[in-house]
Amino acid sequence: MGNAFDVIIVGGGAAGIGAARRLAVHGLSALLLEASSRLGGRAHTQDLGGYPLDLGCEWLHSGDRNAWVVIAEASGFPVDRGEPPWTKAHPGITQDEDAQEAAQRAFGAWEERLRSAAAGSDRASDALEPGGTWNAYVRAIAGFMSGVGPEAISATDYLAYDDASTGKNWHLPLGYGTLVAASLPSSTTLHLATPAERIDLTADGVAVTTRAGIVRAGAAIITVSTAVLAGDAIRLPSGVDPWREAAAALPLGHNEKVFLEIGREAAFEPDSHAYGDLHDPRAAAYSIRPNGWPVIEAFLGGEGARIVEEEGPAAGFAFVSAELAALFGSDVVSAIRPLAATSWSRMASIGGAYSCALPGRSGARAQLARPFEDRLFFAGEATHPFDFTTAHGAHDSGQRAADEAMAALRDRHGLGLRDPLVATGT
Ligand SMILES: Cc1cc2nc3c(=O)[nH]c(=O)nc-3n(C[C@H](O)[C@H](O)[C@H](O)COP(=O)(O)OP(=O)(O)OC[C@H]3O[C@@H](n4cnc5c(N)ncnc54)[C@H](O)[C@@H]3O)c2cc1C
Repeated sequence: MGNAFDVIIVGGGAAGIGAARRLAVHGLSALLLEASSRLGGRAHTQDLGGYPLDLGCEWLHSGDRNAWVVIAEASGFPVDRGEPPWTKAHPGITQDEDAQEAAQRAFGAWEERLRSAAAGSDRASDALEPGGTWNAYVRAIAGFMSGVGPEAISATDYLAYDDASTGKNWHLPLGYGTLVAASLPSSTTLHLATPAERIDLTADGVAVTTRAGIVRAGAAIITVSTAVLAGDAIRLPSGVDPWREAAAALPLGHNEKVFLEIGREAAFEPDSHAYGDLHDPRAAAYSIRPNGWPVIEAFLGGEGARIVEEEGPAAGFAFVSAELAALFGSDVVSAIRPLAATSWSRMASIGGAYSCALPGRSGARAQLARPFEDRLFFAGEATHPFDFTTAHGAHDSGQRAADEAMAALRDRHGLGLRDPLVATGT
């Protein structure tokens, strides 16, 4: 039986869309299967209270070398290159500035000590100062970065990201999720709400089973999260077990957002930032009135995110309201009301926030990124060697996997691909 498509892409997040864009430029036919009823995966902008708020990725990290910036500008999406709010502390907060500076210095010192930990145990918690005054703060910030406590972070992995980051954090006022979901080429066949249930190798490529039937192609690009890949939602050939084991060594951390609506306009300074209790590892980071909108976005990582995940949104609202009352005075509680809370960890088709290598397992990213039998190609944020955890890393990994799939198809069939030198665009 012939192949209906050159390539089947499993997963319509930033990686799957990046792969589709590359295949389209080179004239290959592609089918994208997406389990959920929308495109974007962990890139998801939702209209909340009338404002396009990002439930998942929001910041164009390493903006000066981020492929989504190029795509945004080519598609007419505005890019805000201004300083992010976390550089502008909200004035008049009841928080000791000296203590804040001391906490930030302690975090910097922990990051420095990570280099010795990387050369030894590779466990990031070994870089904590025993009994250190600011260890709770270090835990909270590490939770924002990696979604887990330092005990579960590979120091080598953490530093690979940190060393490669350019420190430029830009913003899309219309939403990162809006851009990602709008960027699938029109030539890609899209089937939403169609999870891949099983993938088999055939003499001529792959057969992917969905509830709508079996579809065949020359190759498959698998972009699902490491939680999905390591789980049992997709039946894969047993030879893929080492890839699934690599995915299990790159578990998704816990990060959630809680959004509050501001009822009294005057209560907060626009485009500013606040940080919760410096001595609580669950503390949230608060983006206050982003773009001047009457909204507060609380970002929770690691132990803080687990409040929302395990106790539910109401517990998340109660926690952040108490932190805001401690920062701004108890009056503010009457000025804010719950708008929404995310639940990334509870979504079966995602299963968490972003990947973090277990101590000693930073090599799992390269293991996961290898092709299998020149039929299956793996992409997704977790497969990027240094831009993992990000939407641009996911995009670039999709493009890398598309290049690998095209090379394999060309070797197998001398497939009539358009000359890549003639093809243009990204
Ligand atoms: C709270 C939060 C904040 C973040 N902030 C930022 C940020 O500011 N900047 C940044 O760059 N990144 C950020 N990220 C990370 C970024 O969103 C992700 O790294 C990136 O979007 C991952 O893209 P992906 O394509 O690798 O995976 P995904 O987006 O997970 O895409 C995989 C897709 O596969 C689908 N799928 C699953 N199972 C199947 C199946 N069986 N068949 C078919 N499809 C399936 C899923 O539904 C999903 O759409 C954040 C993430 C979170 C959760």
